[in-house]
Amino acid sequence: MSVVAKTGTQPESNAFTLPKRADVVIVGAGIMGCAAAYYLAKQGVKAVVLDKSRIAGQQSTRAWGFVRQQGRDPSEMPLAIASNRLWLGLQEELQADLGWRQGGCLYIGHNAAQMARYESYLETSRQHGVDTRLLSADEVRAQVPGFEAPQIGGLFTPSDGQAEPRLVAPAFARRAAELGARFIEGCGLTGIDVAGGKVIAARTECGEIRTDHIICSAGAASWRVLRSLGIALPQHQVRGTVARTSSGPSVGAVAAIGGGIGWRQRSDGSFNLANDARVDVDVTLGHLRALEWYMGPLLQHFRSFNFKLNGTFLDDVRQRLPRSETRVNGRLVGVRDPLLAANDADINACLARLKRAMPSQRNVQIVERWAGGIDVLPDGIPVLDAPTTPSGLMVATGFCGHGFALGPIVGKTLADWLITGQPPMNLHDLRLSRYAEGDVKPPHSLF
Ligand SMILES: Cc1cc2nc3c(=O)[nH]c(=O)nc-3n(C[C@H](O)[C@H](O)[C@H](O)COP(=O)(O)OP(=O)(O)OC[C@H]3O[C@@H](n4cnc5c(N)ncnc54)[C@H](O)[C@@H]3O)c2cc1C
Repeated sequence: MSVVAKTGTQPESNAFTLPKRADVVIVGAGIMGCAAAYYLAKQGVKAVVLDKSRIAGQQSTRAWGFVRQQGRDPSEMPLAIASNRLWLGLQEELQADLGWRQGGCLYIGHNAAQMARYESYLETSRQHGVDTRLLSADEVRAQVPGFEAPQIGGLFTPSDGQAEPRLVAPAFARRAAELGARFIEGCGLTGIDVAGGKVIAARTECGEIRTDHIICSAGAASWRVLRSLGIALPQHQVRGTVARTSSGPSVGAVAAIGGGIGWRQRSDGSFNLANDARVDVDVTLGHLRALEWYMGPLLQHFRSFNFKLNGTFLDDVRQRLPRSETRVNGRLVGVRDPLLAANDADINACLARLKRAMPSQRNVQIVERWAGGIDVLPDGIPVLDAPTTPSGLMVATGFCGHGFALGPIVGKTLADWLITGQPPMNLHDLRLSRYAEGDVKPPHSLF
């Protein structure tokens, strides 16, 4: 693959020369940037993809790996359905094993209030033609053999699936590179030049690239890129911890939430395991930015957040001082390769809950744990847009913990939109300007 590591963690694989001009510059080589580069290259448009760190070094390889339509906000349902169709043929399309298993997505109900919420969601699925249905307690047991925690039923979407995050973005990148895209690792975007209301160049740590099109898919750093253009995006980050276990007896291919945990089992028997719907918020001074957008959602979803005043607060203060990594790298690059600490206590508790809910798994152990910074927006849905000011800019960010599943369709949508000049579906609800317009709905779910 044509990957150049300018300053990053990989060895320089060929002589580094920054192209002077590119059809498109993509900022961020997560699943969004890699998929966009692939679908563009497939149609003959060769992107230069910059990452300040490395391909899929952040959220895109740290996800649980759920690929779901179930539980989606109605505004992103059309994207989730279209993405599901792409997932069905993705291993063949990318000529790669992606760990894809179409075992469905299951939310297990432990009380009547939960079941009532699931039932009310059925109307959204029905309107969009998704095969979501309610399950009885017996049907839940049939879906997850060995699940013994008390439960009274569930919400189930058989057409949903799971895949291996560590395989997918790199597979997109590999195929994109084979088709002529260029990936430059360890080279961050430092600014965007605009003239006459149009994008004219990307300024990078390695020099300038003249271009008419820039796609901002910089994950949790997208708000910084947009701010450099005078556009405010109320984006923040929360911390989610995930563990991989050793192999246990098969409980099927369902991706499930229940018994206080979220899990999926790979075909080798190992689990990806996490808390069912609770994340950590490491409080920093940065949380004062855009706080007004979050007061309502925080109150509405208070149970989902575990607020922590810890070393991250001091790290954030240090990053504001002269000679800090952020000051040296510049604000758009900031900390090049943020490494978040896993919540050990929480993941140990999740393992105990797994064993309680499924006694057949009593021998599984945690073999690896990690944390990822989930980028969130206050209305719980992403921005996917080509704003008119400046023209030539496209934005795909704020996926609020659902973006792995949407990655393929987001990449394809960006590519088709850039090439034809028209969005391939109605994306009005996901427009960037909704914040400036104050046309923001309460979140359906935050992640
Ligand atoms: C713990 C966890 C669990 C999750 N579980 C699921 C799940 O089960 N299902 C699901 O659908 N989604 C899940 N998600 C969400 C999903 O992983 C993300 O929505 C998705 O990966 C976002 O992809 P991205 O390309 O937008 O961002 P990222 O993968 O974060 O990539 C952004 C890239 O931009 C780069 N960058 C930033 N600034 C610059 C700059 N100035 N110049 C150049 N490069 C820059 C970064 O280095 C990074 O590589 C989960 C996320 C986490 C963290």
